[in-house]
Amino acid sequence: MTIEAPRPRNFIEEAIEEDGRTGRYGGRVHTRFPPEPNGYLHIGHAKSICLNFGLAKKYGGQCNLRFDDTNPTKEEVEYVDSIMNDVRWLGFEWDGLYYASDYFPQLYAWAIQLIEAGKAYVCDLSADEIRAHRGTLTQPGKNSPYRDRPVAENLALFARMREGEFSDGARTLRAKIDMASPNLNLRDPVLYRILHAEHHRTGNAWCIYPMYDYTHGQSDSLEQITHSICTLEFENHRPLYDWFLDALDIYHPRQIEFARLNLTYTVMSKRRLLELVQGGFVSGWDDPRMPTIGGLRRRGYTPESIRAFCDRIGVAKFNSTIDVAVLEGAVREDLNRTAPRAMAVLRPLKLVIENYPAGQVEELEAINNPEDPSAGVRLVPFSRELFIEQDDFREVPPKKFHRLTPGAEVRLRAAYIVKCTGVVEDQSTGEIREVRCTYDPQTKSGLPSADRKVKGTIHWVSAQHAVQAEVRLYEHLFSQPDPSDVPEGVDYKATLNPNSLEVLKSAQLEPSLAHSKPGDRFQFERNGYFCVDTRDSLPGRLVFNRTVTLRDTWAKIEKSG
Ligand code: ATP
Ligand code: MG
Repeated sequence: MTIEAPRPRNFIEEAIEEDGRTGRYGGRVHTRFPPEPNGYLHIGHAKSICLNFGLAKKYGGQCNLRFDDTNPTKEEVEYVDSIMNDVRWLGFEWDGLYYASDYFPQLYAWAIQLIEAGKAYVCDLSADEIRAHRGTLTQPGKNSPYRDRPVAENLALFARMREGEFSDGARTLRAKIDMASPNLNLRDPVLYRILHAEHHRTGNAWCIYPMYDYTHGQSDSLEQITHSICTLEFENHRPLYDWFLDALDIYHPRQIEFARLNLTYTVMSKRRLLELVQGGFVSGWDDPRMPTIGGLRRRGYTPESIRAFCDRIGVAKFNSTIDVAVLEGAVREDLNRTAPRAMAVLRPLKLVIENYPAGQVEELEAINNPEDPSAGVRLVPFSRELFIEQDDFREVPPKKFHRLTPGAEVRLRAAYIVKCTGVVEDQSTGEIREVRCTYDPQTKSGLPSADRKVKGTIHWVSAQHAVQAEVRLYEHLFSQPDPSDVPEGVDYKATLNPNSLEVLKSAQLEPSLAHSKPGDRFQFERNGYFCVDTRDSLPGRLVFNRTVTLRDTWAKIEKSG
C-alpha cells in the first residue's frame, strides 16, 4: 500500500478558506454539480463531481445536483436517470436536487425586470446577422438596429414571443451591454431564443428558452451557492455571470474556474462520445473502452479507484493532459488490495503429467489474496491433465525465458514442480497439441521438501474441472496519445485503434469461478484484473472483461529484445 502525504491546499480551497476568514458567505460552503442531461457522464465529469462534493464534505457544507436543462432538443430523461445513478455509484449523495427548468418562471420574470430597467431588448436580427454584427477579437461589433426599442415595445414583443406568435429564430431577447467590449461575451449576449420544442420536464409550457449564460448564475444564486466551480473555458464568461447578478441585484455566488481533465488515448466531449456510439465504433455508452462512468464501471473500475485518481491529479489553473496510465494505476492499486485471486488460462495449451495417476484428483490450497490474510484460502482441483497458457511454453526458448521448455523445470502455482519431457504435435499441421511433463511429488507446495527453487512459476487449470468462458481484452480506444492530433482534413476517428478489443472465446477458468456474478472482480494470476460483464454474462456462459493488466515485465523484456 502506498501512503500518500497530505497534499497542500489547492487554489480553490485557498479561495474558500479566505472567504471563510472574511465572512463573505457567513462561513457557509455550498457547491453544486451542474450537468446538462444531454449524454452520459465521463471521467472528466467525475473530476468535477469529486471536486464539488469533496469540497462540501471537507468544509462541512452542502452540494446540490442541478440539471442544466435549457436545451430541450438534446436532453432526455434517460440521461437524467443515468447521471443520478452515476453520481451515487461514485459514492456521493446530493443535498438538493434541482432542475434549471424549475426556474423558467423566475428567469422570465427577471428578464422582464431587465427590460424595464432598459438592460435588455428584443432583437429581430437572425442568428447569422447577430454573428455578423458581433465583430471579432480585434474589431468592435455593431449595434443592432433594434437596440434602442422603447421599453414598452420590448415588453409587448417579449410577451408575444412567449405566447408563441413567432417562428423559431425570428427574434431574440438580448442584454444591452457593450458591443465594443473587448470581451465578446459582453457584446449584447442573447438571453432568450424562440424554440417550439417539447421539453422533457416542462412539456409545451414554453416556446422560448433561456440561454446557458443567462440561466447558470441565476440558478446558482437561487440555490444560495457560495462557490460556483466550473472549467476554464468559462473564465471569460465570468464578467457576464457577474453582470447578470449585479443587474438583477440578487445574491452573488463566486465563480472559480479550474482546468478540465484531458486523458491520453481517448476523447472526452459528449459530442464525440455520441459520435462513437452512433457510428457503431463502440457497442454503446457503456462499452468498456469508453471513458464514461458507465464504461469504466462495466470495465471493472471501482468508485474508490476513480475517487483516488481524481484526488491524485488535483486541480490546476492550466489545461494539461493526464496520462491514462495514472487512471490505470489507481484501479490496479485498489484491486490489488481487494480482488480475490483466481487461476484462469486465457489461451489454453494442454499439459499432460505422464507420471501423475490417471483418475486422481487433489484439492490444493491456494491463497485468496496475499494482500489480505482475512480473505483466506480456497481449494483448487489438480489432476493429470491441465491447461497452461500458450505463452508459458516455448519449444525454442528465447534468452531469459524462465517458463516451460523441453528439459526445463517450472513450478505450477500452489502445486508441484514439473519438468518438460516433450511435445505431441498434430500429424498434419505440425502444431503443438499437447506438452508432456513429469512431476516431482516431493515438491508439493507447503511441504518442507518443496523448498527447491526453480526460476519460473506458471498458473494452470485442471482440464476436467475447468469452466470455459469468454474473455474480452481491451487496449486503448485510440492508437495515439492525442486523437485530435491529425493532419488538416483528417477526422480524429481515423486514429481509432483497430485492435482495441480482442475476444478470447475459450478461456479456461478454475471451477471456483463458475458461480461468479455480474460485476464480481478478480485478479487472474499473472494475467491482470478481470470482472464479470454486467451485460452479456450469463450463468453457464460467463463473459469477463479485462479491467487492467498487471505490470508485465516479460513483455517489456521481450520488446527490448
Ligand atoms: P462535454 O464538453 O463533455 O459535453 P460539458 O462541460 O458540456 O462536457 P456539462 O454537462 O455541461 O458537460 O458539465 C457538467 C459539469 O462537469 C460542468 O461543471 C463541467 O465544467 C464539468 N466538466 C465537464 N467536462 C469536464 C472535464 N473534462 N473535466 C472537468 N470537469 C468537466
Ligand atoms: Mg455543456
